[in-house]
Amino acid sequence: MNPVIALVGRPNVGKSTLFNRLTRSRDALVADFAGLTRDRKYGEGKVGGKPYIVIDTGGISGDEAGIDMAMAEQSLLAIEEADIVLFMVDGRAGLTAADQMIAQHLRTQGKDAWLIVNKTDGIDPEMAEIDFYEMGMERAPISIAAAHGRNVTNMIQHVLEPF
Ligand code: GDP
Ligand code: MG
Repeated sequence: MNPVIALVGRPNVGKSTLFNRLTRSRDALVADFAGLTRDRKYGEGKVGGKPYIVIDTGGISGDEAGIDMAMAEQSLLAIEEADIVLFMVDGRAGLTAADQMIAQHLRTQGKDAWLIVNKTDGIDPEMAEIDFYEMGMERAPISIAAAHGRNVTNMIQHVLEPF
């Protein structure tokens, strides 16, 4: 099966914007891939001849109830399903408590996620990254601007290298 990339992060960091940029066909996939669950939003894409599957999630904010709770659960399941986790944060908003909670969850799951600092259009990407160092992620952050495509192809090629 093709590598599965999960997009996780608190609401509004740009997960769906990145999903749309990374995928061409959407939603039609699940039937073709036994083992993936229908409730999450899947898409497929290809970079440098390498195909992959992307899962978009609703987001985790840390104080869920009702529908938000279901959304957060989907995010946690997507993390379990994924070969690659892209943990997205908002480079303009800076570090939040919800980001820290997600980082902690990833640590307890033993998932070595990539920290993707989004919305770095029109700001200094390196300055934006510094704010997130205190989460103690193992890998250096990668900055992108999903809405404009800045560094998106490089980033995806990089995380897919081992596959
Ligand atoms: P999600 O809730 O994580 O799925 O976030 P969305 O993809 O819905 O994006 C939330 C908002 O951030 C939208 O208004 C997007 O247009 C905006 N956004 C996403 N990516 C970027 C980016 O690279 N730069 C800027 N400036 N805005 C972005
Ligand atoms: Mg979304």
